Amino acid sequence: MEHVEIPAEQVVPMDAIADRLQGLRIAFVNVFAVTHRDGSWTLIDAGLPMTAKMIRGWAEKHFPGPPNAIVLTHGHFDHVSAAGELAEKWDVPVFAHTLEFPYLTGQKEYPPPNVGAGGGTMSLLSPMYPRGPVDLRPRLQALPANGSGSTSGGLSALPGWQVLNTPGHTPGHVSFFRPEDGTLLVGDAFCTTKPESFFEAALAQQPELHGPPSYFTSDWTQARESVHRLAELAPNIVAPGHGKPLAGGNVAQALRTLAAHFDDIAVPENRKSVSA
Ligand SMILES: [Zn+2]
Ligand SMILES: [Zn+2]
Repeated sequence: MEHVEIPAEQVVPMDAIADRLQGLRIAFVNVFAVTHRDGSWTLIDAGLPMTAKMIRGWAEKHFPGPPNAIVLTHGHFDHVSAAGELAEKWDVPVFAHTLEFPYLTGQKEYPPPNVGAGGGTMSLLSPMYPRGPVDLRPRLQALPANGSGSTSGGLSALPGWQVLNTPGHTPGHVSFFRPEDGTLLVGDAFCTTKPESFFEAALAQQPELHGPPSYFTSDWTQARESVHRLAELAPNIVAPGHGKPLAGGNVAQALRTLAAHFDDIAVPENRKSVSA
């Protein structure tokens, strides 16, 4: 099995993913705006290099003022690059899991990519991607402390949402779940398009469930456990960092299928032996 098929009618538009949730696709990566009942809003992830202006323009069109915070699923360059500039401009904090801090405070680079993973242009070009270190001090703040549990609890900036620890793609990768309507923001825990071929797939973004982007995933055992935990939530709506958002009755079942066949679908050949 190469991926989990998703019927086209389960794709939902980025500007109306769910109640109080909309997104912006920037080339091959998505950012999201979560709106709260009091009218405030939160930016989830912060895009590619040189996209701060684009994100701000989008935000200004949709919201009367700046967000209450920028919250990061993880620290990869395609999810954080505009964070510093936006946080400065908006005068807001940037939240991330503490295990991502070394990569967001100028201390450490992510490990080199697995160039042999999965083929596709993204894998081949992956040695050229910036791996940091990014320095978001002094704006950077810790997501709620967590320990060993799968749920970190809540963040006051994101009322009604749970912060879930979903490591594997990176050590401090997190996802966000709103139990009220079963909406799940998964970052790069898994994708709804083929992640190694973002460029090839960029136009169509055929809806399919895939694992996390494999060239950059550091721990496949954790990545598998994280997808299992997300599948157990049986979400109604899924919004990924890469690919189109999906909604409908079949989404939870498709995610269970991805979890059940994770090694087959997600783990690259050259990592299968070390992940078992
Ligand atoms: Zn990533
Ligand atoms: Zn990504």
